[in-house]
Amino acid sequence: MTDIIAYMKNRDPYEKEFHQAVEEVFETVQPVLERYPDYRQAAILERLIEPERVILFRVPWMDDAGQVHVNRGYRIQMNSVIGPYKGGLRFHPSVNLSILKFLAFEQVFKNALTTLPMGGAKGGSDFSPKGRTDQEIMRFCQSFMMELFRHIGPNTDVPAGDIGVGAREIGYLFGMYKKLQNEFTGVLTGKSIGWGGSLIRPEATGFGNVYFAAEMLATRSESFKDKVCLVSGSGNVAQYTVEKLIELGAKVVTLSDSSGYIYDEEGIDIGKLDFVRRLKNVRRGRIREYTDKYARAVYVEADPTLEYNPMWNHPANCAFPSATQNEINDKDANNLINQGISLVSEGANMPSTPEAIKIFIDRKILYAPGKASNAGGVAVSGLEMSQNSMRIGWPREEVDNRLKCIMKSIHTTCLGAAAEYGEPGNYLVGANIAGFVKVVNAMIDQGVV
Ligand code: GLU
Repeated sequence: MTDIIAYMKNRDPYEKEFHQAVEEVFETVQPVLERYPDYRQAAILERLIEPERVILFRVPWMDDAGQVHVNRGYRIQMNSVIGPYKGGLRFHPSVNLSILKFLAFEQVFKNALTTLPMGGAKGGSDFSPKGRTDQEIMRFCQSFMMELFRHIGPNTDVPAGDIGVGAREIGYLFGMYKKLQNEFTGVLTGKSIGWGGSLIRPEATGFGNVYFAAEMLATRSESFKDKVCLVSGSGNVAQYTVEKLIELGAKVVTLSDSSGYIYDEEGIDIGKLDFVRRLKNVRRGRIREYTDKYARAVYVEADPTLEYNPMWNHPANCAFPSATQNEINDKDANNLINQGISLVSEGANMPSTPEAIKIFIDRKILYAPGKASNAGGVAVSGLEMSQNSMRIGWPREEVDNRLKCIMKSIHTTCLGAAAEYGEPGNYLVGANIAGFVKVVNAMIDQGVV
């Protein structure tokens, strides 16, 4: 195993995030590899870290002033052993091959945990949507799809949203796909409800994360009633996490964006959440404006010179990191624990560094890795695919119930795998082993391809 890690690092030395995601999974599945020595000869690990296909392309587009820009577009088709490639598109200046390979790798195991037939992929661009007009966003999405369309399809690869890609972008991408392919199919998920989307898809990641966390609390006979919660981010995942937490009687005191965070000791209620929704989804403003409207809250500007994020240093019971990768380091993890946190449930992908995770597990915090706790988003994407194939739409309650059942089943699966391998209560080990075993068994069944 150490040979493979060394080989991977030596071969692609700059892919730090990808190495981090692979090392975490490979370390935790060590006991499975010992139990099944045949995996070695089948070169399972070597195959898992090599994407089935990587598509890298030029995305030229024109801004409103007539200036042409060029961005880089990507699609990493990681593994299709249990279904068509499936995973989001991220538009953010930080996007590079390492970040997308880590996300695609995570997606393979996450999708396996959902119980639905979906392989793993991720894509996107280093394009920054911040400050761009609707027309510029449309031209960018159209140019992106003019290349991507030939590589995707409802039975091949079904992209969706991620950071920087929401309903607006999915609409523009879908419009261009349909024009080029002359076909109305469920090739993207996260579509608007009027033209093929699923009810509950917007809510799914945030609601699913809270459903998962509620299952974790129930193992200690606790509920969200009166729990104080820290939520990071202020996009789709964070917004619906806050909504569900409020509904279950918790008090949420933080939200953030890349510029800073707000702390509202009185709690963010539904009215304040509506304000955040309009601010972020319609006006596309900054979270600092929250304090213009709610003067008793405080805004703290992000300070990159600090070794910790003060957002994670407020008294609370639960934390829901829902912004981006590596937003909680070892110092933040210690601060969280010192402030009274007993549950961390990841809404983002890989928001905790390996050092932070180790602290959570050593200190017996209820810690849920993103590939289990944020799987609700892609799970409802899978349900959107089913509805599209059947050409029907399920009512809200039906999708929400299915989402609840899926999150419950992921929780049970994680606990079962963790116990089977001698780590009871360790959700990280449970999620990695359960996802890994499902994917690997399918790879063995399907031969050397
Ligand atoms: N981007 C989301 C994730 O990280 C959703 C992907 C999808 O719906 O395909 O799982």
